[in-house]
Amino acid sequence: MVDYNQVLKEIHEEVTPVLSQGRVADYIPKLASVPADKFGMAVHTLDGDIYTTGDARENFSIQSISKVYTLTLAMTYIGEEKLLARVGREPSGTPFNSLVQLEYENGIPRNPFINAGALVLVDIILSHCRDAADTIRSFVRERADNPNIDFDPEVAASEKDTGFRNAAMANFLKSYGNLHNPVEAVLDTYYHQCALRMNCIDLAKSVMFLANHGVSPWSGKQILTRSQAKRINSLLLTCGTYDAVGDFAYRVGLPGKSGVGGGIAALIPEKLSVSVWAPGLNPNGNSLAGTLALELFTTKTGMSIF
Ligand code: GLN
Repeated sequence: MVDYNQVLKEIHEEVTPVLSQGRVADYIPKLASVPADKFGMAVHTLDGDIYTTGDARENFSIQSISKVYTLTLAMTYIGEEKLLARVGREPSGTPFNSLVQLEYENGIPRNPFINAGALVLVDIILSHCRDAADTIRSFVRERADNPNIDFDPEVAASEKDTGFRNAAMANFLKSYGNLHNPVEAVLDTYYHQCALRMNCIDLAKSVMFLANHGVSPWSGKQILTRSQAKRINSLLLTCGTYDAVGDFAYRVGLPGKSGVGGGIAALIPEKLSVSVWAPGLNPNGNSLAGTLALELFTTKTGMSIF
């Protein structure tokens, strides 16, 4: 039996000296003002036990982690085959907001987790429901079993004010016919999903269905088929941490998704989910201490998917 409390305690102590080494995202004021010394971590086991350390109950901006939920929704709406006609499944090897590949590859984003891919996911959701942002929020609330999860309106507004690159990308996708809804609507929904505020416990809970073959462990609700859950996990492993995905797989060895708010959600099928929050980022936009914390977690517990 792993003593998770002890493991988390040791990790917290070991990462504390490196918290100041990362660089907090500063493209919008609300993210720039988050103290770099925050650190939280939560483990949620398949049996329903939750273990935490540090600031695991403090809300933060989940940013690109939200792409896991939109991928799940898009997959349930149109299925894998149709989805993969509009978004690829290869690591991009480029920064999450890069435009370069999109032109070479005729408006088909490399994968669902780079921004271009995420914009296509939003477009699919918009084509299937009346209020896409509300649908995403309800989905997250259900997955995390927390009705209080919400968007941070200030973050959503700043995303819009500074989102020139995302706007360029959306227009580019539209010119290739890979967005079916108005660019404005796609961007507005995307900015809202990025602005979801959650804590480490919410985050760990929200991805438990991916650790349980697509079934929400506490409600018994089938969110995805077994095969779809497996596919999302492989996309997380190969594309979930951008152009540092090789480093992440090598050091952590788990399917996971990061966001520039400093959060990372990861999981071990049939065992647990684990989330971490440390706002200082490495140059690839992944949490620096968060990646180290997850590396220490798999090393100390001896758990891995390999
Ligand atoms: N809001 C950010 C963007 O679209 C999210 C990026 C991220 O978390 N990687 O640029």
